[in-house]
Amino acid sequence: MSTPTNREQWQNLADTLITQGEIKADAFIEGEYQASLSGERFDCVSPIDGRVLCQVASCDLEDANIAVKSARAAFDSGVWSELSPVKRKGIMIRFADLLEANKDELALLETLDMGKPIRYSGAVDVVGAARSIRWSGEAIDKIYDEIAPTAHNEIGMITREPVGVVAAIVPWNFPILMACWKLGPALATGNSVILKPSEKSPLTAIRMAQIAIEAGIPKGVLNVLPGFGHTVGKALALHMDVDTLVFTGSTKIAKQLMIYAGESNMKRVWLEAGGKSPNIVFNDAPDLQKAAEAAAAAIAFNQGEVCTAGSRLLVEAGVKDELLGLIAKEMQAWKPGHPLDPATTCGAVVDKQQLDNVLKYIRVGIAEGAELVHGGNQVLTESGGMYVEPTIFSNVENKMTIAKEEIFGPVLSVITFDGMDEAISIGNDSIYGLAAGVWTSNISKAHKTAKALRSGMVWINHYDGGDMTAPFGGYKQSGNGRDKSLHAFDKYTEIKATWIALD
Ligand code: NAD
Ligand code: MN
Repeated sequence: MSTPTNREQWQNLADTLITQGEIKADAFIEGEYQASLSGERFDCVSPIDGRVLCQVASCDLEDANIAVKSARAAFDSGVWSELSPVKRKGIMIRFADLLEANKDELALLETLDMGKPIRYSGAVDVVGAARSIRWSGEAIDKIYDEIAPTAHNEIGMITREPVGVVAAIVPWNFPILMACWKLGPALATGNSVILKPSEKSPLTAIRMAQIAIEAGIPKGVLNVLPGFGHTVGKALALHMDVDTLVFTGSTKIAKQLMIYAGESNMKRVWLEAGGKSPNIVFNDAPDLQKAAEAAAAAIAFNQGEVCTAGSRLLVEAGVKDELLGLIAKEMQAWKPGHPLDPATTCGAVVDKQQLDNVLKYIRVGIAEGAELVHGGNQVLTESGGMYVEPTIFSNVENKMTIAKEEIFGPVLSVITFDGMDEAISIGNDSIYGLAAGVWTSNISKAHKTAKALRSGMVWINHYDGGDMTAPFGGYKQSGNGRDKSLHAFDKYTEIKATWIALD
């Protein structure tokens, strides 16, 4: 089948999947799909139009116990953990190839499940997911261990070993992509993984498990447990036989996971959490039109449901009016539309709860005295889906709620400043420290500002760049550890020092 080229063709494909009951919705344990032990299921509701797509297995403690046992047995058997790196590499690359071969189906599942436009779910999410698996696989037979600079009569070997059983708990905004940012380095280094997708977007994770098996990942090495955070998520986080917990999600839950680790076996906990990233435009920005395009995309792409969203636009007084005018014009390109229409750039918000949350923040912004200059409304209500206009608030003060809290929707706060020191001080005045943008023609100012910002990623004269070669993650309450790049491998390996006496 060739890739659909219009909304009708995508809709036909979706209808076939849904009505023929072809959407996989069970847990995946020990190489097989199975219902949860309790038999409980929950409705998977599409935010596009409110349609129920399928009923997903709702896993709990008992399922977690079985999955951990399966993962532990697979790890101990050595079938994957002791496979030579070059062989693991081959299977990882095949896994990546198969993700790409199934791109249309995975993209469709992602769009139906969480509302993102089909034009991105394949080209950005599935392709990015495959890239993470492939990059990590390709790297694994090129990393060497170390020999310590010891005295002549001894040898100190520093070797890396897989940690064992990894639980990966991921969010709904980039479901398959966030899952694969974890799976790539976790599997490449030889671990067994239990993946817990968000209850709001479980479908691609469930389907992917089967693809992994097809690629040759042995059974038990990747188990997938759909279900809720407070049930199966908590069970994994408290489990005495999970060695490492990796997480992408909110700061609130990230903190809770550290408590669970402390209350159980002190498992390693690596957290990618929220953000409230400053995008700083100086008077001497080299290209205001480019800055406007980037600022609009930074808040409207993926309906603003992006951890690195440029949700605080810090603009120097001299270019404020011109930049705001340009951004308002750019927002025309981000009108909410049907996610299965390849022309749509801004789709549906993930669910009713998230829509209500975004609308609440818009009301709070108005009540606290920010000036609503663009958008602000729920739209396309007749569709039965969850759509909100990209929204811009001007004259925002950094102490206002909409500048402090992560909205995780398309709501931009514009804050004015004078000079570099004030930009840096406002930029850093946040509990978060994930990302930042800096727009200036002055190379010293660019470097000084980038250095002074307490954030894990800084983009100069663009926004939201990056690939597999550079680490992704944040300072402060945006988390610890990094996804992507070889630095990610640190999370999935223990370091062993072995001393050999030669005399
Ligand atoms: P969330 O924290 O509500 O949920 C994330 C995951 O945790 C879900 O799978 C959920 O089921 C699970 N969970 C919830 N409660 C749990 C508990 N008590 N025990 C164990 N697991 C539990 O976050 P979300 O709403 O799914 O995602 C949005 C958040 O993710 C935003 O804050 C966003 O900034 C963040 N995010 C961060 C990055 C990053 O790399 N820094 C990337 C994407 C998203
Ligand atoms: Mn969903």
